[in-house]
Amino acid sequence: MIYLDNNATTCIDDEVLSVMMPFLKEDYGNASSLQHKMGRTTHQAIEKSRQIIANYFGASTKEIFFTSGATESINLVLRGVFERYQSIGKHFITTKSEHKAVLSTLEALEKKGAEITYLPLDHQGNINLHDLEKSIRHDTILICLMHANNETGVIHPIEAIAELASKSQVLFFSDTTQAISKLDTNYGKSGVDICCFSAHKLHGPKGIGGIYVRRKSRPIQIAPLITGGKQENNLRGGTYNTASIVGMSKAFEIAKPKASNDIAALRDYFEQRILNEIEDAALHAQTAIRLNNTSNIVFKHVKSAELMLKLTNIAVSSGSACVSGDRDPSHVLIAMGISPEDALCSIRFSLSKYTTKADLDETILELKKVITKIRNESPIWQLHKANLL
Ligand code: PLP
Repeated sequence: MIYLDNNATTCIDDEVLSVMMPFLKEDYGNASSLQHKMGRTTHQAIEKSRQIIANYFGASTKEIFFTSGATESINLVLRGVFERYQSIGKHFITTKSEHKAVLSTLEALEKKGAEITYLPLDHQGNINLHDLEKSIRHDTILICLMHANNETGVIHPIEAIAELASKSQVLFFSDTTQAISKLDTNYGKSGVDICCFSAHKLHGPKGIGGIYVRRKSRPIQIAPLITGGKQENNLRGGTYNTASIVGMSKAFEIAKPKASNDIAALRDYFEQRILNEIEDAALHAQTAIRLNNTSNIVFKHVKSAELMLKLTNIAVSSGSACVSGDRDPSHVLIAMGISPEDALCSIRFSLSKYTTKADLDETILELKKVITKIRNESPIWQLHKANLL
Protein backbone atom coordinates (compact mmCIF):
# COMPACT_ATOMS: atom_id res chain seq x y z
CA MET A 1 0.00 0.00 0.00
CA ILE A 2 1.26 3.48 -0.84
CA TYR A 3 0.22 5.70 2.04
CA LEU A 4 -0.56 9.30 1.11
CA ASP A 5 -3.08 10.05 3.84
CA ASN A 6 -0.78 11.43 6.51
CA ASN A 7 -3.06 14.32 7.43
CA ALA A 8 -5.62 11.72 8.54
CA THR A 9 -3.07 9.88 10.63
CA THR A 10 0.56 8.77 10.55
CA CYS A 11 2.41 5.56 11.29
CA ILE A 12 3.99 5.34 14.70
CA ASP A 13 7.78 5.85 14.74
CA ASP A 14 9.92 2.99 16.05
CA GLU A 15 11.57 5.28 18.57
CA VAL A 16 8.16 6.32 19.85
CA LEU A 17 6.98 2.76 20.22
CA SER A 18 10.11 1.66 22.04
CA VAL A 19 9.85 4.38 24.73
CA MET A 20 6.20 3.43 25.28
CA MET A 21 6.73 -0.30 25.82
CA PRO A 22 8.12 -0.22 29.39
CA PHE A 23 5.09 1.80 30.50
CA LEU A 24 2.73 -0.81 29.08
CA LYS A 25 4.48 -3.71 30.79
CA GLU A 26 6.74 -3.07 33.80
CA ASP A 27 6.11 0.56 34.75
CA TYR A 28 2.35 0.44 34.95
CA GLY A 29 1.88 2.33 38.22
CA ASN A 30 -0.81 4.99 38.45
CA ALA A 31 0.91 8.34 38.11
CA SER A 32 -1.36 9.76 40.81
CA SER A 33 -0.28 7.09 43.35
CA LEU A 34 2.63 9.06 44.68
CA GLN A 35 2.76 6.99 47.89
CA HIS A 36 4.79 4.27 46.19
CA LYS A 37 7.78 4.06 43.89
CA MET A 38 5.88 2.72 40.87
CA GLY A 39 3.51 5.66 40.95
CA ARG A 40 6.39 8.10 41.39
CA THR A 41 8.22 6.56 38.40
CA THR A 42 5.29 7.14 36.06
CA HIS A 43 4.63 10.58 37.54
CA GLN A 44 8.21 11.56 36.77
CA ALA A 45 7.93 10.18 33.23
CA ILE A 46 4.81 12.27 32.66
CA GLU A 47 6.39 15.43 33.99
CA LYS A 48 9.48 14.85 31.82
CA SER A 49 7.18 14.42 28.82
CA ARG A 50 5.38 17.63 29.72
CA GLN A 51 8.73 19.42 29.75
CA ILE A 52 9.65 18.13 26.29
CA ILE A 53 6.32 19.24 24.86
CA ALA A 54 6.55 22.60 26.64
CA ASN A 55 9.99 23.07 25.04
CA TYR A 56 8.45 22.45 21.62
CA PHE A 57 5.86 25.18 22.25
CA GLY A 58 8.35 27.62 23.73
CA ALA A 59 6.25 27.38 26.88
CA SER A 60 6.47 26.36 30.52
CA THR A 61 5.18 23.03 31.85
CA LYS A 62 2.35 24.84 33.64
CA GLU A 63 0.98 25.79 30.22
CA ILE A 64 0.62 22.22 28.87
CA PHE A 65 -2.41 20.00 29.63
CA PHE A 66 -3.01 16.47 28.38
CA THR A 67 -6.23 15.22 26.79
CA SER A 68 -7.21 12.28 24.57
CA GLY A 69 -6.53 14.20 21.35
CA ALA A 70 -7.45 17.26 19.36
CA THR A 71 -11.20 16.60 19.26
CA GLU A 72 -11.37 16.54 23.04
CA SER A 73 -9.05 19.54 23.27
CA ILE A 74 -11.28 21.54 20.94
CA ASN A 75 -14.40 20.59 22.90
CA LEU A 76 -12.66 21.49 26.14
CA VAL A 77 -11.57 24.91 24.91
CA LEU A 78 -14.78 25.95 23.16
CA ARG A 79 -17.18 24.65 25.78
CA GLY A 80 -14.90 25.58 28.66
CA VAL A 81 -14.39 29.17 27.51
CA PHE A 82 -18.11 29.55 26.76
CA GLU A 83 -18.96 28.46 30.29
CA ARG A 84 -16.46 30.74 31.98
CA TYR A 85 -16.82 33.92 29.89
CA GLN A 86 -20.59 34.20 29.60
CA SER A 87 -20.63 37.28 31.81
CA ILE A 88 -18.48 39.03 29.18
CA GLY A 89 -20.27 37.70 26.11
CA LYS A 90 -21.32 34.79 23.93
CA HIS A 91 -19.81 35.72 20.60
CA PHE A 92 -17.29 33.55 18.71
CA ILE A 93 -15.49 34.25 15.44
CA THR A 94 -14.41 31.43 13.14
CA THR A 95 -14.67 30.23 9.52
CA LYS A 96 -16.53 27.40 7.79
CA SER A 97 -13.24 25.73 6.85
CA GLU A 98 -12.39 24.66 10.40
CA HIS A 99 -12.31 20.99 11.35
CA LYS A 100 -15.71 19.43 12.11
CA ALA A 101 -14.66 19.17 15.76
CA VAL A 102 -14.82 22.98 15.88
CA LEU A 103 -17.88 23.42 13.67
CA SER A 104 -20.01 20.77 15.40
CA THR A 105 -19.07 22.06 18.85
CA LEU A 106 -19.90 25.64 17.93
CA GLU A 107 -23.21 24.47 16.46
CA ALA A 108 -23.97 22.80 19.80
CA LEU A 109 -23.04 25.99 21.66
CA GLU A 110 -25.27 28.01 19.35
CA LYS A 111 -28.20 26.02 20.70
CA LYS A 112 -27.14 27.20 24.16
CA GLY A 113 -27.16 30.85 23.12
CA ALA A 114 -23.74 31.38 21.55
CA GLU A 115 -23.54 33.67 18.53
CA ILE A 116 -21.08 32.73 15.80
CA THR A 117 -19.61 34.90 13.05
CA TYR A 118 -18.18 32.89 10.16
CA LEU A 119 -15.55 34.90 8.29
CA PRO A 120 -15.69 34.55 4.51
CA LEU A 121 -12.80 32.85 2.70
CA ASP A 122 -11.44 33.72 -0.69
CA HIS A 123 -11.02 31.14 -3.45
CA GLN A 124 -7.56 30.29 -2.10
CA GLY A 125 -8.86 29.56 1.40
CA ASN A 126 -7.53 32.77 2.97
CA ILE A 127 -9.34 35.02 5.42
CA ASN A 128 -9.15 38.79 5.19
CA LEU A 129 -7.74 40.44 8.33
CA HIS A 130 -9.96 43.51 7.81
CA ASP A 131 -13.02 41.24 7.91
CA LEU A 132 -11.71 39.80 11.16
CA GLU A 133 -11.09 43.22 12.67
CA LYS A 134 -14.56 44.41 11.69
CA SER A 135 -16.22 41.32 13.12
CA ILE A 136 -14.79 41.73 16.64
CA ARG A 137 -17.56 42.94 18.98
CA HIS A 138 -17.61 44.15 22.57
CA ASP A 139 -19.06 40.76 23.53
CA THR A 140 -16.64 38.58 21.51
CA ILE A 141 -15.07 36.02 23.81
CA LEU A 142 -13.03 33.89 21.41
CA ILE A 143 -11.49 33.95 17.94
CA CYS A 144 -11.08 30.36 16.73
CA LEU A 145 -8.96 30.03 13.57
CA MET A 146 -6.85 27.03 12.72
CA HIS A 147 -3.17 27.38 11.93
CA ALA A 148 -3.07 24.99 8.94
CA ASN A 149 -6.03 23.44 7.20
CA ASN A 150 -6.12 19.64 7.18
CA GLU A 151 -7.69 19.38 3.72
CA THR A 152 -5.90 22.06 1.72
CA GLY A 153 -2.86 22.81 3.88
CA VAL A 154 -3.68 26.56 3.76
CA ILE A 155 -1.92 28.43 6.55
CA HIS A 156 -3.56 31.29 8.42
CA PRO A 157 -1.36 34.19 9.59
CA ILE A 158 -1.62 33.41 13.29
CA GLU A 159 0.79 36.12 14.47
CA ALA A 160 -1.26 38.85 12.77
CA ILE A 161 -4.49 37.33 14.08
CA ALA A 162 -3.02 37.18 17.59
CA GLU A 163 -2.08 40.85 17.36
CA LEU A 164 -5.64 41.85 16.43
CA ALA A 165 -7.06 39.63 19.16
CA SER A 166 -4.74 41.05 21.77
CA LYS A 167 -5.50 44.66 20.72
CA SER A 168 -9.19 43.94 21.32
CA GLN A 169 -8.54 41.85 24.45
CA VAL A 170 -10.21 38.83 22.91
CA LEU A 171 -8.85 35.30 23.39
CA PHE A 172 -7.38 33.59 20.34
CA PHE A 173 -7.54 29.80 20.07
CA SER A 174 -5.81 28.15 17.12
CA ASP A 175 -6.30 24.53 16.16
CA THR A 176 -2.63 23.76 15.52
CA THR A 177 -3.14 20.00 15.08
CA GLN A 178 -1.88 19.89 11.50
CA ALA A 179 0.81 22.55 11.78
CA ILE A 180 2.76 20.88 14.57
CA SER A 181 5.88 19.11 13.30
CA LYS A 182 5.34 20.63 9.85
CA LEU A 183 5.97 24.31 10.67
CA ASP A 184 8.61 25.58 13.06
CA THR A 185 6.46 28.19 14.77
CA ASN A 186 7.37 29.15 18.32
CA TYR A 187 3.86 29.26 19.75
CA GLY A 188 5.06 30.80 22.99
CA LYS A 189 6.21 33.84 21.01
CA SER A 190 3.38 33.83 18.46
CA GLY A 191 0.86 35.57 20.70
CA VAL A 192 -1.70 32.76 20.33
CA ASP A 193 -3.48 32.16 23.64
CA ILE A 194 -4.52 28.52 23.25
CA CYS A 195 -3.36 25.75 20.88
CA CYS A 196 -4.31 22.09 20.60
CA PHE A 197 -2.38 19.03 19.48
CA SER A 198 -2.78 15.34 18.74
CA ALA A 199 0.13 12.88 18.77
CA HIS A 200 -1.04 10.65 15.93
CA LYS A 201 -0.56 13.45 13.41
CA LEU A 202 3.20 13.42 14.06
CA HIS A 203 4.04 9.72 14.19
CA GLY A 204 2.91 9.34 17.78
CA PRO A 205 0.19 7.12 19.25
CA LYS A 206 -3.54 7.65 18.71
CA GLY A 207 -5.85 8.78 21.51
CA ILE A 208 -3.50 11.26 23.16
CA GLY A 209 -3.04 14.99 22.73
CA GLY A 210 -3.45 18.17 24.68
CA ILE A 211 -3.64 21.92 24.83
CA TYR A 212 -1.20 24.75 25.36
CA VAL A 213 -2.74 27.58 27.39
CA ARG A 214 -0.67 30.74 27.64
CA ARG A 215 -0.21 32.10 31.15
CA LYS A 216 -1.29 35.71 31.18
CA SER A 217 -1.48 38.37 33.85
CA ARG A 218 -5.21 37.72 33.88
CA PRO A 219 -5.25 33.88 33.74
CA ILE A 220 -7.28 32.26 30.96
CA GLN A 221 -10.33 30.48 32.40
CA ILE A 222 -11.48 27.16 30.97
CA ALA A 223 -14.13 25.03 32.67
CA PRO A 224 -13.31 21.28 32.67
CA LEU A 225 -15.14 18.99 30.31
CA ILE A 226 -14.24 15.80 32.18
CA THR A 227 -14.40 16.01 35.94
CA GLY A 228 -13.02 13.39 38.27
CA GLY A 229 -9.69 13.35 40.07
CA LYS A 230 -7.52 16.41 40.37
CA GLN A 231 -5.33 15.55 37.38
CA GLU A 232 -4.12 18.33 35.09
CA ASN A 233 -4.66 20.97 37.71
CA ASN A 234 -8.38 20.07 37.86
CA LEU A 235 -8.82 20.71 34.14
CA ARG A 236 -9.08 17.07 33.04
CA GLY A 237 -9.84 14.17 35.36
CA GLY A 238 -8.93 10.55 34.65
CA THR A 239 -5.99 8.19 35.17
CA TYR A 240 -2.97 9.20 33.14
CA ASN A 241 -2.29 7.33 29.90
CA THR A 242 1.40 7.18 30.73
CA ALA A 243 2.67 5.12 27.78
CA SER A 244 0.91 7.36 25.27
CA ILE A 245 2.05 10.57 26.95
CA VAL A 246 5.65 9.36 26.94
CA GLY A 247 5.29 8.26 23.31
CA MET A 248 3.80 11.61 22.36
CA SER A 249 6.69 13.47 23.95
CA LYS A 250 9.15 11.37 21.92
CA ALA A 251 7.19 12.23 18.76
CA PHE A 252 7.54 15.93 19.64
CA GLU A 253 11.21 15.51 20.49
CA ILE A 254 12.12 13.96 17.15
CA ALA A 255 9.79 16.12 15.03
CA LYS A 256 11.93 18.13 12.65
CA PRO A 257 9.85 20.84 11.01
CA LYS A 258 12.89 21.98 9.00
CA ALA A 259 13.14 18.54 7.37
CA SER A 260 9.77 19.29 5.79
CA ASN A 261 11.71 21.14 3.05
CA ASP A 262 12.56 17.71 1.66
CA ILE A 263 8.88 16.84 1.71
CA ALA A 264 8.15 20.13 -0.06
CA ALA A 265 10.49 19.20 -2.91
CA LEU A 266 8.70 15.88 -3.36
CA ARG A 267 5.31 17.57 -3.11
CA ASP A 268 6.28 20.10 -5.79
CA TYR A 269 7.55 17.34 -8.06
CA PHE A 270 4.27 15.44 -7.57
CA GLU A 271 2.06 18.46 -8.24
CA GLN A 272 4.00 19.54 -11.32
CA ARG A 273 3.83 16.12 -12.87
CA ILE A 274 0.11 15.78 -12.22
CA LEU A 275 -0.69 19.20 -13.62
CA ASN A 276 1.49 18.58 -16.69
CA GLU A 277 0.52 15.00 -17.39
CA ILE A 278 -3.15 14.67 -16.43
CA GLU A 279 -5.68 16.57 -18.47
CA ASP A 280 -8.09 18.87 -16.65
CA ALA A 281 -6.48 18.56 -13.24
CA ALA A 282 -6.21 21.66 -11.04
CA LEU A 283 -4.65 22.36 -7.69
CA HIS A 284 -6.80 23.95 -4.98
CA ALA A 285 -5.30 26.90 -3.09
CA GLN A 286 -2.45 26.97 -5.58
CA THR A 287 -1.28 30.48 -4.70
CA ALA A 288 -1.95 30.31 -0.96
CA ILE A 289 0.79 29.69 1.59
CA ARG A 290 0.34 25.99 2.29
CA LEU A 291 1.77 23.16 4.34
CA ASN A 292 4.65 21.45 2.60
CA ASN A 293 3.04 18.05 2.56
CA THR A 294 -0.51 18.69 1.32
CA SER A 295 -1.96 18.79 -2.20
CA ASN A 296 -5.67 18.95 -2.87
CA ILE A 297 -6.35 18.32 -6.54
CA VAL A 298 -9.51 18.25 -8.65
CA PHE A 299 -9.67 15.80 -11.56
CA LYS A 300 -12.60 17.23 -13.49
CA HIS A 301 -15.54 14.90 -14.07
CA VAL A 302 -13.94 12.05 -12.09
CA LYS A 303 -15.82 11.44 -8.86
CA SER A 304 -13.30 11.01 -6.04
CA ALA A 305 -15.40 8.21 -4.49
CA GLU A 306 -15.04 6.16 -7.67
CA LEU A 307 -11.40 7.09 -8.16
CA MET A 308 -10.44 6.07 -4.62
CA LEU A 309 -12.28 2.77 -4.97
CA LYS A 310 -10.25 1.96 -8.07
CA LEU A 311 -6.91 3.09 -6.64
CA THR A 312 -6.78 -0.15 -4.73
CA ASN A 313 -3.16 0.15 -3.54
CA ILE A 314 -3.09 3.84 -2.75
CA ALA A 315 -4.44 5.44 0.43
CA VAL A 316 -5.67 8.99 -0.16
CA SER A 317 -8.66 10.97 1.04
CA SER A 318 -11.50 12.98 -0.40
CA GLY A 319 -11.81 15.26 2.58
CA SER A 320 -11.17 14.98 6.28
CA ALA A 321 -11.16 11.39 7.49
CA CYS A 322 -14.12 12.06 9.73
CA VAL A 323 -16.42 12.74 6.78
CA SER A 324 -15.02 10.52 4.06
CA GLY A 325 -17.70 7.92 4.84
CA ASP A 326 -20.44 10.13 3.47
CA ARG A 327 -20.94 11.63 0.04
CA ASP A 328 -21.18 15.29 0.94
CA PRO A 329 -18.66 17.47 -0.85
CA SER A 330 -15.83 18.71 1.36
CA HIS A 331 -17.12 21.55 3.56
CA VAL A 332 -13.67 23.17 3.30
CA LEU A 333 -13.71 23.36 -0.50
CA ILE A 334 -17.32 24.58 -0.47
CA ALA A 335 -16.33 27.31 2.02
CA MET A 336 -13.67 28.43 -0.49
CA GLY A 337 -16.32 28.83 -3.19
CA ILE A 338 -15.39 25.67 -5.10
CA SER A 339 -18.43 24.20 -6.91
CA PRO A 340 -19.98 21.07 -5.36
CA GLU A 341 -19.24 19.27 -8.65
CA ASP A 342 -15.51 20.05 -8.44
CA ALA A 343 -15.42 19.39 -4.70
CA LEU A 344 -16.81 15.90 -5.32
CA CYS A 345 -14.00 15.31 -7.83
CA SER A 346 -11.18 16.40 -5.49
CA ILE A 347 -8.58 14.29 -3.74
CA ARG A 348 -6.23 15.16 -0.91
CA PHE A 349 -2.71 13.74 -1.04
CA SER A 350 -0.75 14.18 2.19
CA LEU A 351 2.90 13.14 2.35
CA SER A 352 5.16 12.29 5.27
CA LYS A 353 8.87 11.94 5.91
CA TYR A 354 8.48 8.30 4.84
CA THR A 355 7.08 9.15 1.39
CA THR A 356 9.49 8.34 -1.46
CA LYS A 357 9.78 9.52 -5.04
CA ALA A 358 9.03 5.94 -6.10
CA ASP A 359 5.71 6.11 -4.16
CA LEU A 360 4.79 9.25 -6.06
CA ASP A 361 5.84 7.90 -9.44
CA GLU A 362 3.71 4.82 -8.86
CA THR A 363 0.78 6.96 -7.74
CA ILE A 364 0.97 9.15 -10.85
CA LEU A 365 1.09 6.07 -13.06
CA GLU A 366 -1.98 4.59 -11.36
CA LEU A 367 -3.85 7.89 -11.43
CA LYS A 368 -3.27 8.27 -15.16
CA LYS A 369 -4.46 4.73 -15.83
CA VAL A 370 -7.57 4.88 -13.67
CA ILE A 371 -8.59 8.42 -14.63
CA THR A 372 -8.29 7.64 -18.34
CA LYS A 373 -10.44 4.54 -17.90
CA ILE A 374 -13.13 6.35 -15.89
CA ARG A 375 -13.25 9.23 -18.35
CA ASN A 376 -13.37 6.95 -21.39
CA GLU A 377 -16.45 5.30 -19.94
CA SER A 378 -18.12 8.58 -18.95
CA PRO A 379 -20.74 10.21 -21.21
CA ILE A 380 -20.25 13.48 -19.28
CA TRP A 381 -16.58 13.48 -20.15
CA GLN A 382 -17.42 12.94 -23.85
CA LEU A 383 -19.82 15.90 -23.74
CA HIS A 384 -17.17 17.99 -21.99
CA LYS A 385 -14.60 17.12 -24.64
CA ALA A 386 -17.06 18.05 -27.38
CA ASN A 387 -17.65 21.40 -25.63
CA LEU A 388 -21.30 20.49 -25.16
CA LEU A 389 -21.50 20.93 -21.39
N1 PLP B 1 -8.19 19.35 14.00
C1 PLP B 1 -7.60 19.11 12.82
C2 PLP B 1 -7.13 20.27 11.99
C3 PLP B 1 -7.44 17.79 12.37
O1 PLP B 1 -6.86 17.56 11.21
C4 PLP B 1 -7.92 16.74 13.20
C5 PLP B 1 -7.83 15.35 12.72
O2 PLP B 1 -8.31 15.00 11.65
C6 PLP B 1 -8.52 17.05 14.41
C7 PLP B 1 -8.64 18.37 14.78
C8 PLP B 1 -9.02 15.97 15.32
O3 PLP B 1 -7.95 15.26 15.87
P1 PLP B 1 -8.11 13.92 16.71
O4 PLP B 1 -8.19 12.83 15.72
O5 PLP B 1 -6.87 13.82 17.52
O6 PLP B 1 -9.28 14.06 17.56
